[in-house]
Amino acid sequence: MAKCKQCDQAIEFVKLGNGKWHPVEARESEVFYFHRDQPGMPRVKIVTANGSFFSGRLGTRHENGVTRLEGWLSHFTSCEGREEAPPF
Ligand SMILES: [Zn+2]
Repeated sequence: MAKCKQCDQAIEFVKLGNGKWHPVEARESEVFYFHRDQPGMPRVKIVTANGSFFSGRLGTRHENGVTRLEGWLSHFTSCEGREEAPPF
């Protein structure tokens, strides 16, 4: 298992559609309910098993317009070792 060089947390990598490897939290995939491409907190960045990348605002299951997505939380959501925003 890999470790993040910035914060030493356990991570896995998922290959994105653009061929780049993206670090995600090292745990089972989860179901997220979120508002795609909307600003606000809490921010989430999610990578799916087919290599798609999504970002938006975390929501709850019964909110209007919420998107249900299964995947992994991008490590860039939580990494505390990074001072700069990741280059998406
Ligand atoms: Zn990290």
